[in-house]
Amino acid sequence: MRPTGQLHLGHLIGALGNWVPLQQRYDCFYFVADWHALTSDYADTSRLTAHAYENVADWIAAGIDPERSTIFVQSLVPEHAELYLLLSMVVPVPWLERVPTYKEQQENLKDKDLSSIGFLGYPLLQTADVALYDGQFVPVGEDQVAHLELARESVRRFNNFFGEVLVEPQPMLTKFARLPGLDGDKKMSKSLGNTIHLSDSAADVMKKVRSMYTDPKRTRADIPGTVEGNPVFTYHDAFNTNTAEVDDLKARYRAGKVGDVEVKTTLANALNAHLEPIRQRRTELLSAPERLREIVFDGSARARTIAVETLDRVRDAMKIRY
Ligand code: ADP
Repeated sequence: MRPTGQLHLGHLIGALGNWVPLQQRYDCFYFVADWHALTSDYADTSRLTAHAYENVADWIAAGIDPERSTIFVQSLVPEHAELYLLLSMVVPVPWLERVPTYKEQQENLKDKDLSSIGFLGYPLLQTADVALYDGQFVPVGEDQVAHLELARESVRRFNNFFGEVLVEPQPMLTKFARLPGLDGDKKMSKSLGNTIHLSDSAADVMKKVRSMYTDPKRTRADIPGTVEGNPVFTYHDAFNTNTAEVDDLKARYRAGKVGDVEVKTTLANALNAHLEPIRQRRTELLSAPERLREIVFDGSARARTIAVETLDRVRDAMKIRY
């Protein structure tokens, strides 16, 4: 995950919600992709490290166990850069230009100059990120499948020249639940300002939920409303564990027998119940910065041991040995 901002409910559903259970079955590596943040946000790096620490605190608060999984920071393992450089020698530029997100992002983020080598090369840096750990599976959504395809082709091409050195990673397609924004936009996203952060107070959550977009036809509580595609109910489905309450609210909403205030207040309460333990753990972690730093550095040292071994193998295969 790139340390480009604070984590929100979308990250909880779309990323951490998948990462946490994977720890039971796999040897997992979760990292702060700080160099990837630079591929688009290079002009202002003032908040980068603060976001990195806050993001790690959020991961741990949400259930990533630093003993069981390897949590690290990309730039603390400089072997990522070396493998990327070596891969860049054999991977043709047009392969990267053809990655769909390349042109899309350049068009979407018009306020940034994305004509850099770093931005063009980021899917190849991702390839190095995975190959460095002999990563077999990468938990991604549909939108990342093209990047995994590039990773597989790049590894194959490298192996064609130098032997079976690197492992071809497979996408592990995660059920990609995309959480809509508070404003009804299809995606909760920091750039749209339609988020609930994991760090928001209970009062902020209540205030934000009260202001949420809902069925615009319902100007009065006795008008029957639409549940499908209504973000208030999408959130209820995602976060309210009391399914009987949710079913009852849906039935009364469809029948025009419940006010928005009740639907939203129960949602805010359910969200706060879900977020409260996360909030407490995140506050504890952030109030002991030395301990958090130690977790990040220990994890990075563990990651680096593996990365160094892979690079040894790569240098041998390439006969770059002095
Ligand atoms: P980046 O800017 O690095 O692409 P984001 O902060 O947009 O990253 O997202 C990081 C991860 O969180 C991605 O894996 C993405 O799938 C997930 N994510 C972000 N927003 C949402 C959302 N609204 N719903 C579901 N998943 C989300």
